[in-house]
Amino acid sequence: MAAYQLAQERLAAEFAARWAATLAAVEAREIAGSLADLEAAYVAAIRESAALSRTLSVAFYRLVRALETGRVIGGPGYRPASSLGSLWAEFNTLTGTRTGSGPREPLPVDTRNPFPAADLAREARRAEETFRHQVADRVEKHERERPARQGSAALDDPELVAWEREFAESLKTGSTGAGGMLVQDGGRDAIHTALQDDPGAIGYYRATEGSPCYFCALMAARGAVYKSKRTAAFGAHPHCHCQAVPIFSRRYQLPAANDKFARMWRDFGGGSLADWRTHYRTTTKT
Ligand SMILES: [Zn+2]
Repeated sequence: MAAYQLAQERLAAEFAARWAATLAAVEAREIAGSLADLEAAYVAAIRESAALSRTLSVAFYRLVRALETGRVIGGPGYRPASSLGSLWAEFNTLTGTRTGSGPREPLPVDTRNPFPAADLAREARRAEETFRHQVADRVEKHERERPARQGSAALDDPELVAWEREFAESLKTGSTGAGGMLVQDGGRDAIHTALQDDPGAIGYYRATEGSPCYFCALMAARGAVYKSKRTAAFGAHPHCHCQAVPIFSRRYQLPAANDKFARMWRDFGGGSLADWRTHYRTTTKT
């Protein structure tokens, strides 16, 4: 589980590093003239990492399912005569770890493929829209503001330099967070959708990162989300590294963090989301 989460987080980090290098190669004042190139690089980086996230999620789903049900599910990456040993080996390869191993006896197979086919057109559209919101629109607004801002000041005027730097920083933070979300959504969506179409799955729970935000802590406090209850959207946000962990039997065990958040929620006793936010912040700070 931890290995899975770290590997997903690493995919977002790899995207972030790649995007940071692309941005660093463009002078602040040349960004407006380079939007088409930047967009192509942004979209390509997101989609390549999202595809890896998805492959990792499918392997994780198949492994967890096999561990809990003793059966292998079909779909992308399925290999005949799969065993716990081969599923662990695949997971280890994808995460770059040696998390587990298992016997090599072939498991019985459910030939169904619950994984949604990758919708390439939709993925490209989402990445392009994100680029427009996070980069293109903001750069254009910044360019419009520059003449008034600059006035008669020299290009190396400290205030102007600080203004440019602040903009560059916030552009990077915003576009990296939103892009990283799309990268990890590659995997999160695959799991979340597969659950609905897999009679063997009963629901999922949210595995949070070390110290999640109040929203994610609240979602994790709900414990298992059974799919019979009209499974709502996963609700990830930029800079969120939470993952959906599928459940295939009532014998699942929640991570200690989820139990902790559930206790905090009970102690909180109810109130608005803003009240919860305050409660969560003060409780986790002590
Ligand atoms: Zn989160």
